Amino acid sequence: MTEAERYDAVVIGSGEGGKYLAWDMAQAGQKVAVMERRWIGGSCPNINCLPSKNEIWSAGVAHTVAHAGEYGVVAGPVSVDMKTVVARKRAMVESLVAFHLERYEATGAELVMGNARLVAPGTIQVALNDGGMRRLATEKLFLNLGTHATIPPVPGLAETRPLTHIEALELDRLPAHLIVLGGGYVGLELAQAYRRFGSRVTVVDRGPRLLKREDEDVSDEVRLILEAEGVEVLLSAEVANVEGRSAGSVRVTVRTPDGSRMIEGTDILVAAGRTPNTRGIGLEEAGVALTDPGTIKVNDRLETTAKDVWAIGECAGSPQFTHASLDDFRVIRDNLGGGDRTTTGRLMPYCMFIDPPLARIGMSEAEARANGMDMRVAKLPMKAVLRTRTTSQTAGFMKALVDPQDRIAGFTMIGSEAGEVMAVVQAAMLGGLPYSVLRDAILAHPTMAEGLNALFGNVAKR
Ligand SMILES: Cc1cc2nc3c(=O)[nH]c(=O)nc-3n(C[C@H](O)[C@H](O)[C@H](O)COP(=O)(O)OP(=O)(O)OC[C@H]3O[C@@H](n4cnc5c(N)ncnc54)[C@H](O)[C@@H]3O)c2cc1C
Repeated sequence: MTEAERYDAVVIGSGEGGKYLAWDMAQAGQKVAVMERRWIGGSCPNINCLPSKNEIWSAGVAHTVAHAGEYGVVAGPVSVDMKTVVARKRAMVESLVAFHLERYEATGAELVMGNARLVAPGTIQVALNDGGMRRLATEKLFLNLGTHATIPPVPGLAETRPLTHIEALELDRLPAHLIVLGGGYVGLELAQAYRRFGSRVTVVDRGPRLLKREDEDVSDEVRLILEAEGVEVLLSAEVANVEGRSAGSVRVTVRTPDGSRMIEGTDILVAAGRTPNTRGIGLEEAGVALTDPGTIKVNDRLETTAKDVWAIGECAGSPQFTHASLDDFRVIRDNLGGGDRTTTGRLMPYCMFIDPPLARIGMSEAEARANGMDMRVAKLPMKAVLRTRTTSQTAGFMKALVDPQDRIAGFTMIGSEAGEVMAVVQAAMLGGLPYSVLRDAILAHPTMAEGLNALFGNVAKR
């Protein structure tokens, strides 16, 4: 057995929080190594956020050109070349990987490409991708392991070789009929994108509505938007079995309240949740306890049950967003520097990049009600925001929750540029401003954010 090489810090997984932590510690002069088995920079730049938004943008261009006539622009027949769509995405990913390699070089953090496992507390063994093994002993260990797409145990599903988001974002051909299992944000973003590229698309969800964490009016609006573009949405549909082979012919039998039904398609995409990458790599043997769903048990400082071991991002059960993983880095960095920062009560915004997008920050109406909270709710249809009249993008609405102290407790928007408008509300929430500040602010005309004047003007007086 070779002697372990000694490090001040080792990060397993080069996701968002882990890489920033590694770069930060290395820049401060510590000896740091990051173990990564495949994706340099983690999932976000390689297979998740940025590749999906890249291809969604191509789909948006296809949609705009197909509807050019409505804007008085004559564009001729539209066809989509998926090979070019994918090539554009790959070029972006390559440039992002190059950026990450430069950061490793510049900071001095060592990137080790291989599959890591814990062989004893503080001792990691890496099976190197280009052959051989290394053993590292570290003072501090950070786990940024991420998750992978869950393939539910539906009879026949695995045998069809379904697409996950990874393969869907690598398709250089257009599926004739894509069946999407799962009505969450990953499934819906890709469903709309493939519809816009020209596929027939059917979304199947076992729940009675899409986006179960959102308010019902949000789920309904999103469904209307997708259906208006020709995406078929099948709800309360429990998949009983799947037959055939994706990239050929698949048959999905679902049980609905109206009886059994079979859907025939050419391709099947599974977007039915995530499974943490925490099993079989020696965590529990090294004293790192897992929760029931398999995430790593952490406290609100992201400390695990093992001494000097922290967890970051999705594997720690943090909200499944890149910016959450980034904030996990800040929590750990600040506490290591003697600070006192926790994950409790974080204001976590998010955006679903369908078109028009959905953005939310803070509480939903249903959450407020479930907690017995006294909230005033104000709503504004997007067509009341004059900017939308100029762009013909009138679908959606804004909704705000205001607490008895006049603070904004939640904001949801489905509408063009929702993510950008949400950031304005977020700044007000972070500053603890009363809603009346946005109601009375002079906002540039005609912008989407201008709608905040009218939205908060609709808050009932106390
Ligand atoms: C299709 C899709 C679209 C998304 N879009 C968005 C979006 O628009 N905005 C947003 O905020 N979030 C989005 N997300 C979620 C987001 O990608 C993640 O929350 C984010 O990347 C943070 O991940 P992480 O830091 O937890 O880990 P990851 O980035 O997943 O990093 C974990 C890394 O650990 C490596 N690893 C795991 N085990 C080992 C091991 N034993 N040895 C070596 N290496 C290992 C993995 O290869 C991986 O690179 C999307 C997710 C999906 C699936």
